[in-house]
Amino acid sequence: MADSPVELPGRLAILPFRNKVLLPGAIVRIRCTNPSSVKLVEQELWQKEEKGLIGVLPVRDLEAGAVGSLLSPGVGSDSGEGSSKAGVSPVETSKQDTKNGKEPIHWHSKGVAARALHLSRGVEKPSGRVTYIVVLEGLCRFSVQELSTRGSYHVARVSRLDMTKTELEQAEQDPDLIALSRQFKATAMELISVLEQKTVSRTKVLLDTVPVYRLADIFVASFEISFEEQLSMLDSVDLKVRLSKATELVDRHLQSILVAEKITQKVEGQLSKSQKEFLLRQQMRAIKEELGDNDDDEDDVVALERKMQNAGMPANIWKHAQRELRRLRKMQPQQPGYSSSRAYLELLADLPWQKVSEERELDLRAAKESLDWDHYGLTKVKQRIIEYLAVRKLKPDARGPVLCFVGPPGVGKTSLASSIAKALNRKFIRISLGGVKDEADIRGHRRTYIGSMPGRLIDGLKRVSVSNPVMLLDEIDKTGSDVRGDPASALLEVLDPEQNKTFNDHYLNVPFDLSKVIFVATANRMQPIPPPLLDRMEVIELPGYTPEEKLKIAMKHLIPRVLEQHGLSSAYLQIPEAMVKLIIERYTREAGVRNLERNLAALARAAAVKVAEQANTLRLGKEIQPITTTLLDSRLADGGEVEMEVIPMGHDISNTYENPSPMIVDEAMLEKVLGPPRFDDREAADRVASPGVSVGLVWTSFGGEVQFVEATAMVGKGDLHLTGQLGDVIKESAQLALTWVRARAADLNLSPTSDINLLESRDIHIHFPAGAVPKDGPSAGVTLVTSLVSLFSNRKVRADTAMTGEMTLRGLVLPVGGVKDKVLAAHRYGIKRVILPERNLKDLTEVPSPILSGMEILLVKRIEEVLDHAFEDGCPLRLRSKL
Ligand code: ADP
Repeated sequence: MADSPVELPGRLAILPFRNKVLLPGAIVRIRCTNPSSVKLVEQELWQKEEKGLIGVLPVRDLEAGAVGSLLSPGVGSDSGEGSSKAGVSPVETSKQDTKNGKEPIHWHSKGVAARALHLSRGVEKPSGRVTYIVVLEGLCRFSVQELSTRGSYHVARVSRLDMTKTELEQAEQDPDLIALSRQFKATAMELISVLEQKTVSRTKVLLDTVPVYRLADIFVASFEISFEEQLSMLDSVDLKVRLSKATELVDRHLQSILVAEKITQKVEGQLSKSQKEFLLRQQMRAIKEELGDNDDDEDDVVALERKMQNAGMPANIWKHAQRELRRLRKMQPQQPGYSSSRAYLELLADLPWQKVSEERELDLRAAKESLDWDHYGLTKVKQRIIEYLAVRKLKPDARGPVLCFVGPPGVGKTSLASSIAKALNRKFIRISLGGVKDEADIRGHRRTYIGSMPGRLIDGLKRVSVSNPVMLLDEIDKTGSDVRGDPASALLEVLDPEQNKTFNDHYLNVPFDLSKVIFVATANRMQPIPPPLLDRMEVIELPGYTPEEKLKIAMKHLIPRVLEQHGLSSAYLQIPEAMVKLIIERYTREAGVRNLERNLAALARAAAVKVAEQANTLRLGKEIQPITTTLLDSRLADGGEVEMEVIPMGHDISNTYENPSPMIVDEAMLEKVLGPPRFDDREAADRVASPGVSVGLVWTSFGGEVQFVEATAMVGKGDLHLTGQLGDVIKESAQLALTWVRARAADLNLSPTSDINLLESRDIHIHFPAGAVPKDGPSAGVTLVTSLVSLFSNRKVRADTAMTGEMTLRGLVLPVGGVKDKVLAAHRYGIKRVILPERNLKDLTEVPSPILSGMEILLVKRIEEVLDHAFEDGCPLRLRSKL
């Protein structure tokens, strides 16, 4: 900012400044669109190399201002420069009223000479009109002596109003002025202190470096004051007048800021956090609007509403949904409740209120064929399913019982249920209930909880998106109840045809009709299912498969399916029956076929690697290289039997790829891919190699199992220790067994006379291996006795004999459950003799005859008979004579 006096020329081109004033020291940006101003800028500034000064003269519309004496410029002289005497009146205003009907305007008689700091030129499209943007800095005041036109713009003869340097120096000595300056500076300082921090330092520098008469202009120019005030500031040529006026204006501005600040403080204090947020959001929305990206959310909500309209909700639920939608509309996306409210509405819109899969006319014969196609054996089960379907055909809305398939894993429960869906042409959805302990898993959490969700049923229906699917409630026996409520009672409501029309999910909070859903359940065991729930279901038991059945299932169903899943066919991989048998015997020991399927899949994967690599090699064409390190190679390392085929160059690729020589699985490949055999027939023999170990048969959720019982004695005080995750019932059985053995010690030849305590100075420890698996039930009674007798008599139990049976204190053997599974388990272990309670004879009809024919079943009534069969040379009984 120059403070040395400016050289003011005698004539200045005049730029009219409408209803505004440029003061010395101020900087303005003016957009010139009017043709005469454009001409002026073009000729006086744009085209001139040496940019001179121009005069900025305030003008006001005639109507807007007070009428004063007018300055009427003459128009049209030869030079294009008209002139007339300026009638300089006391009020010092002028008026131009051109003859060509332009609006009359007042020219102010004083203006400010300015220099251009920046110029830019633009061309408006499509009119082609030229415009300029000029940044002007005000330099010094002048008064207009004479106004005339030059071409289409005005020029004026001007005279300087500001003092010369010497005049100034004199004036600055004036004590009045010094006092005034001080007062002004003080006021200005105060203003600065309340202004924003960042501008402070800059303005402070101004205050210290710029002469005070200029400061007055600069300060005032930065406020928003009225046009009149600006004019009077311009007119204040006298320094004292100017300073006192400026002080007054600065002070007024200062006061207004202080008052405004007080008000904001007050108001801010009263604004709550949410109101503030609201204000900020409004601002944000405005910003977004400016940026043109505001309406995403809006569109989203509209789309949501459309989806809701198409969801076919019942009228009352639609009303409820609309209420919620209105709430959502009022919320900002960042508000805490927004996303939960939205997720809720999405659920309402997604639920199949009306949508159903069209049920076609049920063809029983086709259904039977499809069941047979997918499942080997299971004749009774399939028959029952066909009956179920037949009833549905005759009476589609019949409220038949819910089918519940009970059996060990991998026996086809899930796939039977999905076959039912297929036969009915309905969608299938599986809801896993395993480990569900919280009622909310079934019924959902209320929406007041953070992270609340609908229950699994509603969620399942949303996923399947029809209201009449076949819904499989998987592992219904694995639900438990605890403090968080009882899922079983919620399930009761689900399965009750009277109640499930209006199933109430806590999250959904409006009733949903489940009556069109066909429920099917599965369980591993019946016993843990709560009786009321069991009452609603018809149990269909699927016992485990015999090895022969497994073999058939594998050959007919599993292998084709597995090959297909891996993109193979029998042209690539063949698994001979003998190998499948080996897998069944050596690699799996299960009631179902799940592991068998897994092992077959492992073979298929290995073959797929080979086939894929072969294809790769073939495609390499000329660059065929011997396959050295491949995935399969590394797996088949150390002398693997399977060799890579190296295709000779120039071989017809497509032919080779389509007709590869199939890979035939042999024993070596089994070992390479599946590892060494996991089971063999010698296990039982190895484990009963010492006295105190006996072989029992138990029933678990995996079907029948062989359970060894180990007993040992050590120095102690006659205590009984039990380990192996045992339940109360089995612990009592152990007590019972020990008592019985002690009572019969003499008879059993375990002690010479009956008055000798078997436990004299020793403790007994009984362990059930597979220590991590919980065990319970009374059926280990006979096994426990056998193990104890073996321990005390120091004789080994026969390794080929397994047993099951509950016993009484008097030595009677009572019948037990799960006989078929237990016999099958014994068979899997290669056990040849099974001791069973006599009253279980009837259950043997369930055991396939090929199994039975290869086994010796020993039926017993009393524990002594068990012992008789369990030891190589019979029971060590004196008792025998008594029997
Ligand atoms: P679960 O539900 O009883 O645990 P899955 O239904 O999942 O068992 O069956 C496991 C696999 O075994 C599936 O691939 C199934 O098709 C197959 N499977 C089981 N039983 C048979 C059978 N009898 N015939 C053909 N495949 C069977």
